[in-house]
Amino acid sequence: MRIPSVNELKEKLFRLFPEYPFSYFTEPARKVAAILREKSFKGEIKELKEELLENLLLEVFKKYETPSLKRVINATGVVVHTNLGRSPLAEEAVEAILRVSKWYSNLEYDLMKGKRGSRYVHVEEVLKEITGAEGALVVNNNAAAVLISLNTLAKGKEVIVSRGELVEIGGSFRIPEVMAWAGCILKEVGTTNKTHLHDYERAIGENTALLLKVHKSNYYIEGFTKEVLAKELVSIARKHGLLVMEDLGSGCFVDFSKYRLIKEPTVQEVVKSGVDVVTFSGDKLLGGPQAGIILGKKEIIEEIRRNPLNRALRIDKLTLAGLEATLRLYRCEDWAIQKIPILRMILRSEAELKKEAQRLRRILGRQGLKNISCRLVRTSGKAGGGALPKLELPSYAVALSCEKPAQWIQERLRKREVPIIGRIEEDAFLLDVRCLFPEDYAEIAKAVREVDHELSNP
Ligand SMILES: *Cc1c(COP(=O)(O)O)cnc(C)c1O
Repeated sequence: MRIPSVNELKEKLFRLFPEYPFSYFTEPARKVAAILREKSFKGEIKELKEELLENLLLEVFKKYETPSLKRVINATGVVVHTNLGRSPLAEEAVEAILRVSKWYSNLEYDLMKGKRGSRYVHVEEVLKEITGAEGALVVNNNAAAVLISLNTLAKGKEVIVSRGELVEIGGSFRIPEVMAWAGCILKEVGTTNKTHLHDYERAIGENTALLLKVHKSNYYIEGFTKEVLAKELVSIARKHGLLVMEDLGSGCFVDFSKYRLIKEPTVQEVVKSGVDVVTFSGDKLLGGPQAGIILGKKEIIEEIRRNPLNRALRIDKLTLAGLEATLRLYRCEDWAIQKIPILRMILRSEAELKKEAQRLRRILGRQGLKNISCRLVRTSGKAGGGALPKLELPSYAVALSCEKPAQWIQERLRKREVPIIGRIEEDAFLLDVRCLFPEDYAEIAKAVREVDHELSNP
């Protein structure tokens, strides 16, 4: 079989897609030629029919054209799903990012004075207003926030941490390693399940600079346990002239216990407890873009800002725009809950979720499915993002099943242009409705209809 030359293939592609420049087709044409060579070598094709070639060109070019990073539908029921981009942003944040990315901005320009300004001012005031902190600084992510804070406050010195809090967060963020990178000496105290105030007190020495408290985030210890509160650490730190830092991990401005969910200390409460520095993420329970937020005493924040590391860890303007817009929503808690998607999703009631699942099942019922059956099931989701690990979020899902294993449906839905990610339970593929956007329903209906059609016409 004669394999067409790359140039011939490019010409064919150009005829199919005349709106692209000719040179754009070099790589997809090479890919097609390689596939043809391999198929011919293996004896899979003897003769190259025009139709087969055209289908291959379309398939390869479509794949080449699809962006790698794309929208997916989160039907997992895990709200802050780290693999799925953590927090979808509020409209207000999206608009702010668009505005600042499309046009020039006053990122580092003081419009009052007409000279160079600081990028950090854009979120400093609103952070202080919401949290009651004296000073605020933002960096690339919370890992960066922890690193730069430790490096600034305790380089070459000892940092005391409870053994029960030497956590690994995932993505290789481990407290002992971050500590080493920051140039600090880790001093572990207590045991895995119990650490007392006197454990910290006894460990304080000449070279101690900081007492660190780390939120356990993605796990919890139950039973015979004892953990020292930040407030108590502050009291002994004051006696010995030391600083206290708390890595809150998720960091939330809303007290979920008000909404009959679990109690987690809010950022405001931690600031009030008197710790010198507190750090948390922008894209976990805050519901904003990826960022690390550092709050604390004015002079300490100023010192961290001047650390040369800050230049390497600095926040970019798009993030800053999205973060400012998200933070402004927290000026009114009701607003935040209405407008920030992840808060709205976490607080959706069971009754509402049941209605939504019924609606999804009705929509699927109208697709004329012949092979896939859809049932309403009760299920449970998670807040995710290493936040509120104990919290189960009771929810509803539509369970899809057919004669093939649930993995088959899962794979079909995952490999689509708009992938739908769900999970398998008892050999059914579950679409948990908690994290669905109104726009997702039509896309799910189309996908399920097409998968069902494929079962009829394999
Ligand atoms: C998530 C988390 C981090 C890392 O935050 P990123 O924003 O992902 O960098 C650090 N510490 C704790 C306790 C966390 O939960």
